[in-house]
Amino acid sequence: MTSDATYLELRGIQKRFGAFSALDDIDLSIRRGEFVCFLGPSGCGKTTLLRIIAGLETQTAGTILQAGRDISVLPPAARDYGIMFQSYALFPNLSVADNVAYGLVNRSHSKAQARPRVDELLQLVGLPGSGGKYPAQLSGGQQQRIALARALATSPGLLLLDEPLSALDAIVRVHLRNEIRALQRKLGVTTIMVTHDQEEALSVADRIVVMNHGVIEQVGTPMQVYREPASPFVADFVGKVNRLQAVAEGDHWFRCGDMRLQCSPGAGADFRAGREVALYLRPEDRVVDGVRDDDPMRCTGTVRQVEFLGSNCLAEIDVHGIPGQPIQLQFSLNQMDEFDVREGSSLRFALRADRLRVFPA
Ligand code: ATP
Repeated sequence: MTSDATYLELRGIQKRFGAFSALDDIDLSIRRGEFVCFLGPSGCGKTTLLRIIAGLETQTAGTILQAGRDISVLPPAARDYGIMFQSYALFPNLSVADNVAYGLVNRSHSKAQARPRVDELLQLVGLPGSGGKYPAQLSGGQQQRIALARALATSPGLLLLDEPLSALDAIVRVHLRNEIRALQRKLGVTTIMVTHDQEEALSVADRIVVMNHGVIEQVGTPMQVYREPASPFVADFVGKVNRLQAVAEGDHWFRCGDMRLQCSPGAGADFRAGREVALYLRPEDRVVDGVRDDDPMRCTGTVRQVEFLGSNCLAEIDVHGIPGQPIQLQFSLNQMDEFDVREGSSLRFALRADRLRVFPA
Protein backbone atom coordinates (compact mmCIF):
# COMPACT_ATOMS: atom_id res chain seq x y z
CA MET A 1 0.00 0.00 0.00
CA THR A 2 1.35 3.43 -0.93
CA SER A 3 1.07 5.87 1.97
CA ASP A 4 -0.24 9.37 1.30
CA ALA A 5 3.15 10.88 1.86
CA THR A 6 4.89 8.59 -0.65
CA TYR A 7 5.65 10.44 -3.87
CA LEU A 8 7.94 8.05 -5.70
CA GLU A 9 7.98 4.33 -5.22
CA LEU A 10 10.41 1.83 -6.73
CA ARG A 11 9.45 -1.82 -6.53
CA GLY A 12 11.78 -4.65 -7.42
CA ILE A 13 13.88 -2.66 -9.88
CA GLN A 14 16.44 -4.79 -11.66
CA LYS A 15 18.84 -3.83 -14.41
CA ARG A 16 21.05 -6.19 -16.38
CA PHE A 17 23.56 -5.27 -19.03
CA GLY A 18 23.99 -8.65 -20.72
CA ALA A 19 25.05 -11.05 -17.98
CA PHE A 20 26.06 -8.22 -15.63
CA SER A 21 23.60 -7.25 -12.94
CA ALA A 22 23.88 -3.47 -12.38
CA LEU A 23 20.84 -3.24 -10.07
CA ASP A 24 19.36 -6.05 -8.04
CA ASP A 25 15.85 -5.86 -6.67
CA ILE A 26 15.75 -2.23 -5.55
CA ASP A 27 12.79 -1.25 -3.35
CA LEU A 28 12.56 2.37 -2.23
CA SER A 29 9.90 4.87 -1.18
CA ILE A 30 10.54 8.59 -1.35
CA ARG A 31 8.22 11.02 0.38
CA ARG A 32 6.78 14.15 -1.19
CA GLY A 33 9.15 17.07 -0.68
CA GLU A 34 12.05 14.91 0.43
CA PHE A 35 15.68 15.50 -0.59
CA VAL A 36 17.24 12.09 -1.11
CA CYS A 37 20.84 11.35 -2.09
CA PHE A 38 21.97 8.17 -3.84
CA LEU A 39 25.47 7.72 -2.44
CA GLY A 40 28.02 5.10 -3.36
CA PRO A 41 31.34 4.37 -5.01
CA SER A 42 31.87 4.46 -8.77
CA GLY A 43 30.01 1.66 -10.53
CA CYS A 44 27.54 0.93 -7.70
CA GLY A 45 24.56 1.66 -9.98
CA LYS A 46 23.39 5.04 -8.67
CA THR A 47 23.39 6.79 -12.06
CA THR A 48 21.67 3.82 -13.69
CA LEU A 49 18.93 3.99 -11.05
CA LEU A 50 18.44 7.73 -11.62
CA ARG A 51 18.31 7.21 -15.38
CA ILE A 52 15.68 4.49 -14.95
CA ILE A 53 13.55 6.90 -12.90
CA ALA A 54 13.97 9.44 -15.71
CA GLY A 55 13.07 6.89 -18.40
CA LEU A 56 16.48 7.37 -20.06
CA GLU A 57 17.28 3.74 -19.34
CA THR A 58 14.79 0.84 -19.27
CA GLN A 59 14.72 -1.45 -16.26
CA THR A 60 14.93 -5.20 -16.85
CA ALA A 61 12.21 -5.71 -14.24
CA GLY A 62 10.31 -3.69 -11.67
CA THR A 63 7.73 -0.96 -11.29
CA ILE A 64 7.96 2.81 -10.72
CA LEU A 65 5.07 4.80 -9.32
CA GLN A 66 5.15 8.61 -9.25
CA ALA A 67 2.32 10.33 -7.39
CA GLY A 68 0.40 7.05 -7.63
CA ARG A 69 0.78 6.86 -11.43
CA ASP A 70 2.58 3.88 -12.96
CA ILE A 71 5.33 5.47 -15.06
CA SER A 72 7.36 2.27 -15.53
CA VAL A 73 7.17 2.23 -19.31
CA LEU A 74 6.47 5.89 -20.11
CA PRO A 75 8.97 7.69 -22.37
CA PRO A 76 10.93 10.53 -20.73
CA ALA A 77 8.78 13.28 -22.25
CA ALA A 78 5.64 11.81 -20.67
CA ARG A 79 7.16 11.82 -17.17
CA ASP A 80 7.10 14.76 -14.78
CA TYR A 81 10.67 15.71 -13.83
CA GLY A 82 13.45 18.20 -14.42
CA ILE A 83 17.02 16.95 -14.67
CA MET A 84 20.46 18.46 -14.25
CA PHE A 85 23.69 16.71 -15.21
CA GLN A 86 27.31 16.95 -14.15
CA SER A 87 28.45 18.59 -17.37
CA TYR A 88 26.67 21.85 -17.89
CA ALA A 89 24.81 20.56 -20.93
CA LEU A 90 23.55 24.02 -21.84
CA PHE A 91 23.06 24.73 -25.53
CA PRO A 92 26.10 26.91 -26.36
CA ASN A 93 24.40 28.61 -29.31
CA LEU A 94 21.35 29.67 -27.28
CA SER A 95 21.23 32.63 -24.91
CA VAL A 96 20.77 32.02 -21.19
CA ALA A 97 17.10 33.04 -21.47
CA ASP A 98 16.52 30.65 -24.38
CA ASN A 99 18.26 27.85 -22.50
CA VAL A 100 16.02 28.35 -19.48
CA ALA A 101 12.92 28.68 -21.67
CA TYR A 102 13.74 25.52 -23.62
CA GLY A 103 11.38 23.18 -21.75
CA LEU A 104 8.58 25.77 -21.71
CA VAL A 105 8.82 26.50 -25.44
CA ASN A 106 8.82 22.73 -26.02
CA ARG A 107 5.51 22.65 -24.21
CA SER A 108 3.99 25.07 -26.69
CA HIS A 109 4.62 28.32 -24.85
CA SER A 110 5.80 31.13 -27.12
CA LYS A 111 9.07 32.82 -26.15
CA ALA A 112 7.12 35.90 -25.10
CA GLN A 113 4.83 33.82 -22.88
CA ALA A 114 7.85 32.14 -21.30
CA ARG A 115 9.59 35.45 -20.55
CA PRO A 116 8.11 36.23 -17.10
CA ARG A 117 8.81 32.68 -15.91
CA VAL A 118 12.40 32.89 -17.22
CA ASP A 119 12.93 36.16 -15.34
CA GLU A 120 11.51 34.61 -12.18
CA LEU A 121 13.82 31.58 -12.48
CA LEU A 122 16.92 33.69 -13.11
CA GLN A 123 16.05 35.66 -10.00
CA LEU A 124 15.56 32.39 -8.10
CA VAL A 125 19.02 31.06 -8.97
CA GLY A 126 20.68 34.38 -8.18
CA LEU A 127 21.46 35.49 -11.75
CA PRO A 128 18.86 38.15 -12.53
CA GLY A 129 19.47 40.08 -15.73
CA SER A 130 21.76 37.45 -17.26
CA GLY A 131 19.21 36.29 -19.88
CA GLY A 132 21.00 37.95 -22.79
CA LYS A 133 24.36 36.29 -22.10
CA TYR A 134 25.66 33.10 -23.68
CA PRO A 135 26.90 30.06 -21.72
CA ALA A 136 30.53 30.68 -22.69
CA GLN A 137 30.37 34.05 -20.90
CA LEU A 138 29.54 32.38 -17.58
CA SER A 139 31.68 30.58 -14.98
CA GLY A 140 31.14 26.88 -14.32
CA GLY A 141 29.13 27.61 -11.19
CA GLN A 142 26.96 30.13 -13.03
CA GLN A 143 26.34 27.65 -15.85
CA GLN A 144 25.17 25.08 -13.30
CA ARG A 145 22.75 27.65 -11.84
CA ILE A 146 21.32 28.16 -15.32
CA ALA A 147 21.07 24.39 -15.76
CA LEU A 148 19.19 24.29 -12.44
CA ALA A 149 16.84 27.07 -13.59
CA ARG A 150 16.22 25.12 -16.80
CA ALA A 151 15.49 21.93 -14.84
CA LEU A 152 12.95 23.82 -12.69
CA ALA A 153 11.32 25.80 -15.51
CA THR A 154 8.24 23.62 -15.96
CA SER A 155 7.71 23.34 -12.15
CA PRO A 156 8.29 19.57 -12.25
CA GLY A 157 7.10 17.30 -9.45
CA LEU A 158 10.53 15.68 -9.28
CA LEU A 159 14.00 17.17 -9.58
CA LEU A 160 16.79 14.77 -10.59
CA LEU A 161 20.38 15.86 -10.07
CA ASP A 162 23.14 13.67 -11.49
CA GLU A 163 26.43 14.64 -9.79
CA PRO A 164 25.59 18.30 -10.47
CA LEU A 165 28.52 19.68 -8.50
CA SER A 166 31.40 17.36 -9.24
CA ALA A 167 32.88 19.42 -12.08
CA LEU A 168 33.15 22.53 -9.87
CA ASP A 169 35.99 23.60 -7.61
CA ALA A 170 35.67 23.01 -3.87
CA ILE A 171 34.52 26.48 -2.76
CA VAL A 172 31.91 26.91 -5.50
CA ARG A 173 30.72 23.37 -4.85
CA VAL A 174 29.98 23.98 -1.18
CA HIS A 175 28.33 27.30 -1.97
CA LEU A 176 26.11 25.88 -4.67
CA ARG A 177 25.09 22.78 -2.71
CA ASN A 178 23.83 25.02 0.09
CA GLU A 179 21.92 27.10 -2.44
CA ILE A 180 20.39 24.03 -4.07
CA ARG A 181 19.33 22.82 -0.64
CA ALA A 182 17.79 26.18 0.28
CA LEU A 183 15.98 26.41 -3.04
CA GLN A 184 14.70 22.84 -2.72
CA ARG A 185 13.30 23.67 0.74
CA LYS A 186 11.68 26.83 -0.54
CA LEU A 187 10.04 25.12 -3.53
CA GLY A 188 9.31 21.85 -1.70
CA VAL A 189 10.16 19.87 -4.82
CA THR A 190 10.91 16.17 -4.28
CA THR A 191 14.57 15.81 -5.19
CA ILE A 192 17.02 12.99 -5.85
CA MET A 193 20.71 13.76 -6.14
CA VAL A 194 23.35 11.26 -7.20
CA THR A 195 26.74 11.77 -5.59
CA HIS A 196 29.83 9.80 -4.66
CA ASP A 197 30.81 12.53 -2.16
CA GLN A 198 29.77 11.50 1.34
CA GLU A 199 30.23 14.98 2.81
CA GLU A 200 27.91 16.39 0.14
CA ALA A 201 25.27 13.76 0.90
CA LEU A 202 25.55 14.24 4.68
CA SER A 203 25.19 18.00 4.33
CA VAL A 204 22.15 18.24 2.03
CA ALA A 205 20.06 15.08 2.26
CA ASP A 206 16.98 14.38 4.34
CA ARG A 207 17.75 10.73 3.74
CA ILE A 208 20.68 8.95 2.16
CA VAL A 209 20.43 5.76 0.12
CA VAL A 210 23.84 4.09 0.40
CA MET A 211 24.46 1.76 -2.55
CA ASN A 212 27.11 -0.85 -3.29
CA HIS A 213 27.36 -3.33 -6.16
CA GLY A 214 23.81 -2.72 -7.35
CA VAL A 215 22.09 -3.15 -3.98
CA ILE A 216 20.95 -0.76 -1.26
CA GLU A 217 23.08 -1.18 1.87
CA GLN A 218 21.16 1.30 4.01
CA VAL A 219 18.51 4.01 3.81
CA GLY A 220 18.57 6.51 6.64
CA THR A 221 18.96 10.10 7.76
CA PRO A 222 22.51 11.44 7.58
CA MET A 223 22.77 10.98 11.36
CA GLN A 224 21.54 7.37 11.23
CA VAL A 225 23.89 6.45 8.41
CA TYR A 226 26.84 8.05 10.23
CA ARG A 227 26.08 6.97 13.77
CA GLU A 228 24.37 3.65 13.15
CA PRO A 229 25.84 2.21 9.97
CA ALA A 230 23.96 -0.95 9.00
CA SER A 231 27.01 -2.69 7.54
CA PRO A 232 30.81 -2.51 7.55
CA PHE A 233 30.59 -1.09 4.02
CA VAL A 234 28.49 1.87 5.21
CA ALA A 235 30.76 2.44 8.23
CA ASP A 236 33.79 2.54 5.92
CA PHE A 237 32.24 4.56 3.11
CA VAL A 238 30.59 7.31 5.16
CA GLY A 239 33.10 9.22 7.29
CA LYS A 240 36.36 8.07 8.83
CA VAL A 241 36.30 5.00 11.02
CA ASN A 242 38.68 2.79 13.00
CA ARG A 243 38.37 -0.96 12.59
CA LEU A 244 39.67 -3.23 15.34
CA GLN A 245 39.80 -7.00 15.03
CA ALA A 246 38.53 -8.70 18.16
CA VAL A 247 37.04 -11.91 19.48
CA ALA A 248 33.68 -11.98 21.26
CA GLU A 249 33.64 -13.26 24.84
CA GLY A 250 29.87 -12.98 25.36
CA ASP A 251 27.83 -10.47 27.33
CA HIS A 252 29.12 -7.62 25.11
CA TRP A 253 32.75 -8.21 26.12
CA PHE A 254 35.40 -8.41 23.42
CA ARG A 255 39.05 -9.39 23.54
CA CYS A 256 41.15 -7.10 21.41
CA GLY A 257 44.87 -7.90 21.59
CA ASP A 258 45.61 -8.19 25.32
CA MET A 259 42.75 -5.87 26.27
CA ARG A 260 39.17 -6.63 27.15
CA LEU A 261 36.64 -4.05 25.97
CA GLN A 262 32.97 -3.92 26.83
CA CYS A 263 30.55 -2.07 24.61
CA SER A 264 27.09 -0.86 25.61
CA PRO A 265 24.33 -3.38 24.92
CA GLY A 266 22.59 -0.78 22.74
CA ALA A 267 25.59 -0.29 20.47
CA GLY A 268 25.19 -3.49 18.49
CA ALA A 269 24.27 -7.14 18.48
CA ASP A 270 25.96 -9.45 20.95
CA PHE A 271 27.99 -12.30 19.53
CA ARG A 272 28.58 -15.75 20.93
CA ALA A 273 31.91 -16.32 22.63
CA GLY A 274 34.72 -17.18 20.23
CA ARG A 275 33.22 -15.38 17.23
CA GLU A 276 35.68 -13.16 15.35
CA VAL A 277 34.31 -9.65 15.03
CA ALA A 278 35.30 -6.19 13.89
CA LEU A 279 34.75 -3.22 16.21
CA TYR A 280 34.10 0.07 14.42
CA LEU A 281 34.69 3.41 16.12
CA ARG A 282 34.71 6.98 14.76
CA PRO A 283 37.82 9.08 15.57
CA GLU A 284 35.73 11.51 17.66
CA ASP A 285 34.14 8.78 19.78
CA ARG A 286 36.56 8.91 22.66
CA VAL A 287 36.80 10.62 26.04
CA VAL A 288 39.99 12.34 27.21
CA ASP A 289 38.66 14.47 30.01
CA GLY A 290 37.88 12.83 33.37
CA VAL A 291 38.56 9.22 32.34
CA ARG A 292 37.44 6.97 35.19
CA ASP A 293 39.80 4.27 36.50
CA ASP A 294 37.00 1.69 36.43
CA ASP A 295 36.01 2.44 32.83
CA PRO A 296 36.36 -0.87 30.94
CA MET A 297 37.14 1.11 27.80
CA ARG A 298 40.06 2.98 29.40
CA CYS A 299 43.24 2.86 27.32
CA THR A 300 46.71 4.32 27.25
CA GLY A 301 48.69 4.85 24.11
CA THR A 302 51.58 6.55 22.40
CA VAL A 303 51.04 9.05 19.62
CA ARG A 304 52.73 7.90 16.41
CA GLN A 305 51.82 10.73 14.13
CA VAL A 306 49.62 13.81 14.07
CA GLU A 307 47.73 14.94 10.98
CA PHE A 308 46.88 18.62 11.33
CA LEU A 309 43.54 19.47 9.70
CA GLY A 310 43.03 23.14 10.61
CA SER A 311 40.32 23.25 13.25
CA ASN A 312 41.26 19.83 14.60
CA CYS A 313 43.78 17.04 14.19
CA LEU A 314 43.83 13.29 13.75
CA ALA A 315 46.34 11.52 15.98
CA GLU A 316 47.42 8.01 15.08
CA ILE A 317 47.91 6.14 18.34
CA ASP A 318 49.53 2.83 19.26
CA VAL A 319 47.22 1.58 21.98
CA HIS A 320 49.05 -0.29 24.73
CA GLY A 321 47.83 -3.88 24.81
CA ILE A 322 46.49 -3.76 21.25
CA PRO A 323 49.61 -4.30 19.14
CA GLY A 324 49.54 -3.90 15.37
CA GLN A 325 46.20 -2.07 15.28
CA PRO A 326 46.89 1.66 15.65
CA ILE A 327 43.78 3.83 15.82
CA GLN A 328 43.09 7.40 14.76
CA LEU A 329 41.47 9.74 17.27
CA GLN A 330 40.33 13.28 16.66
CA PHE A 331 41.22 16.21 18.91
CA SER A 332 40.36 19.87 18.78
CA LEU A 333 43.24 22.35 18.83
CA ASN A 334 42.47 23.20 22.47
CA GLN A 335 42.62 19.52 23.38
CA MET A 336 45.90 19.18 21.49
CA ASP A 337 47.39 21.77 23.85
CA GLU A 338 45.62 20.59 26.99
CA PHE A 339 46.47 16.90 26.62
CA ASP A 340 49.82 17.41 24.91
CA VAL A 341 48.88 15.58 21.72
CA ARG A 342 52.11 15.42 19.70
CA GLU A 343 54.30 12.76 18.16
CA GLY A 344 55.77 10.53 20.88
CA SER A 345 53.57 11.75 23.74
CA SER A 346 51.59 9.39 25.98
CA LEU A 347 47.81 9.68 26.20
CA ARG A 348 45.16 8.32 28.49
CA PHE A 349 41.67 8.10 27.07
CA ALA A 350 38.55 5.95 26.94
CA LEU A 351 36.80 4.64 23.87
CA ARG A 352 33.07 5.37 23.98
CA ALA A 353 31.31 2.10 24.71
CA ASP A 354 27.99 3.52 23.50
CA ARG A 355 29.39 4.39 20.06
CA LEU A 356 31.20 1.20 19.21
CA ARG A 357 29.58 -0.80 16.39
CA VAL A 358 30.22 -4.51 16.17
CA PHE A 359 30.02 -6.57 12.97
CA PRO A 360 31.07 -10.10 12.10
CA ALA A 361 34.72 -10.04 10.96
P1 ATP B 1 29.76 6.44 -11.52
O1 ATP B 1 29.77 7.35 -10.34
O2 ATP B 1 31.13 5.98 -11.93
O3 ATP B 1 28.90 6.90 -12.66
P2 ATP B 1 27.56 4.74 -10.78
O4 ATP B 1 27.40 4.26 -9.40
O5 ATP B 1 26.70 5.85 -11.21
O6 ATP B 1 29.08 5.08 -11.01
P3 ATP B 1 26.51 3.36 -13.03
O7 ATP B 1 26.96 4.36 -14.04
O8 ATP B 1 25.10 3.32 -12.67
O9 ATP B 1 27.38 3.49 -11.71
O10 ATP B 1 26.95 1.92 -13.53
C1 ATP B 1 26.68 0.74 -12.78
C2 ATP B 1 27.35 -0.42 -13.46
O11 ATP B 1 26.70 -0.72 -14.68
C3 ATP B 1 28.81 -0.19 -13.77
O12 ATP B 1 29.53 -1.36 -13.52
C4 ATP B 1 28.80 0.15 -15.24
O13 ATP B 1 30.01 -0.25 -15.85
C5 ATP B 1 27.64 -0.67 -15.74
N1 ATP B 1 27.00 -0.03 -16.89
C6 ATP B 1 26.38 1.17 -16.91
N2 ATP B 1 25.87 1.45 -18.12
C7 ATP B 1 26.18 0.39 -18.91
C8 ATP B 1 25.92 0.06 -20.28
N3 ATP B 1 25.24 0.88 -21.09
N4 ATP B 1 26.39 -1.13 -20.73
C9 ATP B 1 27.05 -1.96 -19.93
N5 ATP B 1 27.33 -1.73 -18.63
C10 ATP B 1 26.90 -0.57 -18.13
